[in-house]
Amino acid sequence: MYVLEAQGIGVRFGGVRALHQVGVGLRPGEICGLIGPNGAGKSTLFDVLSGIRRADEGRVLLDGADITRRSPVWRARHGVRRTFQRQQLFGQLTVRDNLLVAQEWRGRVRRGVYAQRRRRAATVLRTCGLDALAETYAGALPVGQASMVELARALADPPRVLLLDEPASGMSADERAQLAAVVRHMADEEGCAVLLVEHNVAFVMELCARVVVLDLGELLGAGTPAEVRADPRVRDAYLGTAPLSPTPPAAPPADVR
Ligand code: ADP
Ligand code: MG
Repeated sequence: MYVLEAQGIGVRFGGVRALHQVGVGLRPGEICGLIGPNGAGKSTLFDVLSGIRRADEGRVLLDGADITRRSPVWRARHGVRRTFQRQQLFGQLTVRDNLLVAQEWRGRVRRGVYAQRRRRAATVLRTCGLDALAETYAGALPVGQASMVELARALADPPRVLLLDEPASGMSADERAQLAAVVRHMADEEGCAVLLVEHNVAFVMELCARVVVLDLGELLGAGTPAEVRADPRVRDAYLGTAPLSPTPPAAPPADVR
């Protein structure tokens, strides 16, 4: 049973068909990768799943119930969280306060809840390796660390579904390893379903049990990393081509071998 599912999604921007008949389903505890060249429609699919954009065609289901017309806020309250390719942190707040603010949506609360929120924030800061940065203003962080805070904020209130749009961009190798550990923890320990968009194909292939490939707004293929790597259509459209790989198309890039 899928926790979050999109069926037959179609989105047009004027003459551009950004998505056409795209379906994808996420199971609890599953880490699924979403890859494809620039302009493939990955971010648009995230917008549709998180409710920021209404699709022209198709449905979105949460636990099998139709949520196509539900707002982004409603979806977030029901555990569907996303991060943005461009970070949306509160720069004038500390890292810790960014996490506390992210739990404020519940509104009127009992005494004791604040202590509970602070505990959750502390746990998430530790999980994300952000302890040392807790009192730093988010606006002062370099992009890799800000990316980690963007992720931490999505975890501040326990999510059921995590939609991560290029979370590794600007990260060092160490930060990427931390990111992978956090995503695994959320899937394995908190049963969270994760959909991960990332340009770093090697990173996706290592972290994800299943990979979905989009090209020009259509599903090109899906399967295990090994199946996707072996699919000639995927190689033609994406894996073997510049600028995603520094090597010329004739020689397969290192992460495809
Ligand atoms: P990706 O995230 O895979 O790079 P996007 O979802 O951002 O791809 O874009 C898919 C297609 O839709 C592209 O052709 C892009 O130019 C177009 N597009 C995306 N957002 C808009 C928009 N707000 N207005 C017009 N066209 C858009
Ligand atoms: Mg994008």
